[in-house]
Amino acid sequence: MEPAKNFITEMIDEHIASGKWGEPGDSSVVHTRFPPEPNGYLHIGHAKSICLNFSLAQSYGGACNLRFDDTNPVKEEDEYVRSIVQDIRWLGFVWNKGCPDDPMAGVLFASDYFQQLHDWAVELIEKGHAYVDDQTPDEIRAARGTLTEPGTPSPYRDRTAAENLDLFEKMVKGEFADGTRVLRAKIDMASSNMNLRDPVMYRVLHAEHHRTGDAWCVYPMYDWAHGLEDSIEGITNSLCTLEFENHRPLYDWFIDAINQGRGSGSQWGEPIHQPQQTEFARLSLTYSVMSKRKLIQLVDEGHVDGWDDPRMTTISGLRRRGYTPEAIRAFSIDVGVTKFNAMIDMARLENACRDHLNKVAHRRMAVLNPLKVTITNWSEGGDESRTEWMKAVNNPEDEGAGKRRVPFTRELFIECDDFMEDAPRKFFRLKPGGEVRLRYAYWITCNEVVRDDAGEVIELLCTYDPQTRGGNAPPPPPATVDNPEPKARKVKGTIHWVSAEHGIEASVKLFDRLFVNERPDRKPKKAGPDWSFLQNINPDSLSVIDDAILEPAFAGVGETECQAAAAGDRFQFERLGYFCVDADSPSGDTGKLMFNRTVSLRDSWAKKSGS
Ligand code: ATP
Ligand code: MG
Repeated sequence: MEPAKNFITEMIDEHIASGKWGEPGDSSVVHTRFPPEPNGYLHIGHAKSICLNFSLAQSYGGACNLRFDDTNPVKEEDEYVRSIVQDIRWLGFVWNKGCPDDPMAGVLFASDYFQQLHDWAVELIEKGHAYVDDQTPDEIRAARGTLTEPGTPSPYRDRTAAENLDLFEKMVKGEFADGTRVLRAKIDMASSNMNLRDPVMYRVLHAEHHRTGDAWCVYPMYDWAHGLEDSIEGITNSLCTLEFENHRPLYDWFIDAINQGRGSGSQWGEPIHQPQQTEFARLSLTYSVMSKRKLIQLVDEGHVDGWDDPRMTTISGLRRRGYTPEAIRAFSIDVGVTKFNAMIDMARLENACRDHLNKVAHRRMAVLNPLKVTITNWSEGGDESRTEWMKAVNNPEDEGAGKRRVPFTRELFIECDDFMEDAPRKFFRLKPGGEVRLRYAYWITCNEVVRDDAGEVIELLCTYDPQTRGGNAPPPPPATVDNPEPKARKVKGTIHWVSAEHGIEASVKLFDRLFVNERPDRKPKKAGPDWSFLQNINPDSLSVIDDAILEPAFAGVGETECQAAAAGDRFQFERLGYFCVDADSPSGDTGKLMFNRTVSLRDSWAKKSGS
């Protein structure tokens, strides 16, 4: 997949031309990475970064690493590692040396560099660029100063290298309690860039790490570790979101400090690699939250049904809802790479999904809210149980998708909404005395309405016109003296239907947006201290239909010429939208197929059918 040209590709092209990373003109030197922290599931914002990093590497013939930034043992879990690996593979990307059969092959972990990071920290201490501070975290914070005032140097700032080395090794050996000592870089407490005011490199933390166990009692801070992880892996382009722009001078400072005094014959060895960091705008989407803390809250407090709830804009939620990897990749190209943070309309994500499903999803008929129709003249041929198998096109966008067969019988179901008693003139679906086309079948006329004791309409008695088979217009009636040029009858409406005898029951979930508000996490000006984004949750974001009726093709039975639908399969229910078979389908309780509505249709087919 060729990514669109943008300021990042322009920069890379220049670097290739000038030979910044290797021989001039050698594009295979482009080396990117996606560095997730395994402390949550991936969301659509991560997908933007994944698509950017992996497709850049692909298009230049370079490589992209998947590296877990697992430097914080407290919030990290193996479950997250597994889900992230699964999601990236599902999106269609393979990392450097990734192997199709083993999902974990070639996956890198920052924790594998703990020893190297430690050794470099020792080097900075020896060079006088780092010191152990005994202040508490609160004292350190208070002494940092503000944007307008310089910070106050720590009373421990001028310890000797020997004393710092001794104290740091004691930190490493676990001789100090959590929060009692940190290792800090000795940079500039008066810097206008707050990130350079002696940032913390290591903290004492007696915590079990998901990979290194209890081997370490100190853990590196993100800012110390991140740029060096990229350096270790030979990453040429460290792409990150805009908020890291003013961390870049710090990352460069760390590398310069390590490289100081390095070179041939130096006791420190050769200089280390310096990646090029470039920042781009993060993705923000209307009607959704993207912060992991908030996503975790939605899951933990039961506001949704887990990380893969189809209402969540996590990759796993979108997958369960029926989104395709192609749609997500197309969306990430569509939103582009820029330097300005902007809100992207959720409708663009939905459109990308429609565009792809329109090309690949097979069409089927399903009735969500059934109303019985009896064709009273069906048995005039003699046989009440007569079934006619009608040919139906699987996908008008794809000839290769072929046809299926749909049974037409005396008793049918149509959508309740497709019938109206006191219909306005422009209602072109079924009404008393009116005629409508049943898709792929016959034209029917409604002659009588049957009600229950409460007066509710429960059945329509209709007749069909045998001359309209396949949905075609009947020939005009014979000419008469009064009407020498008779015209054929016309119908304006076409509706979907399912045979009552052959239909299968299913449950269907319809989703509305998870939040009622375009920017659910923006606190209103007048909101009190108790305000939470949870107040913007849409109480009606989920509706469940337990007794939808589907055409039998979904079960792959009889003469349908179809395979049974399986979990993950995606369809267009004609006139209703795109639907996906849920991951847990069929239901363990009822044995019924379960569907999620991925996205509704555009209105075009509704217009065509006169609805
Ligand atoms: P948090 O929610 O705690 O801020 P995070 O979203 O930054 O975490 P990481 O695991 O650090 O989570 O993200 C991995 C990568 O994904 C980072 O390189 C980050 O730049 C990128 N990323 C995260 N959110 C977005 C977003 N909304 N748009 C684009 N890229 C993103
Ligand atoms: Mg992050």
